[in-house]
Amino acid sequence: MPPPNTYLWCDYCRRSFKPTDAPDNLCPICKSEIKPVGKFNAILRGLVANELNPSPIVSKHRQLVKLIWTRNGAGEEYYRLLAPEMSYAKFESAMTNLLCRGAEEGWVTFSMPPAPVDDEGLYILKVNDENRFLNELQTLAGPDAALAEGD
Ligand SMILES: [Zn+2]
Repeated sequence: MPPPNTYLWCDYCRRSFKPTDAPDNLCPICKSEIKPVGKFNAILRGLVANELNPSPIVSKHRQLVKLIWTRNGAGEEYYRLLAPEMSYAKFESAMTNLLCRGAEEGWVTFSMPPAPVDDEGLYILKVNDENRFLNELQTLAGPDAALAEGD
């Protein structure tokens, strides 16, 4: 048994665990092997990991999501149609977060070609559940949003 002040550090998840949470020295989240570090060291690493978050890949992924849904002026179009009471920049960021959640929950899908190509039309936002999509837009834009007229 490692001494009680020891923490186990996962390099993949960028976080530490108590030995009791990680029997067999395996990360409870990703199951990779994790190394014992001192408590102070674990705290320091955790702070550094937080500063590094989100990773460049994750933030580029988010940018890609933004570029896809705003493609061809669609961003301004949504803004005009929904007329939310917020700046365009704030709306764009809120929509990007919303669509990331949508992709995670499955009511939208982002698809892209297997390798980068010049045809932007191959970078697609596909709506899998239109009602859900509209409801989420409505919630995001607020009760007075233009979409409400249709109901
Ligand atoms: Zn892990």
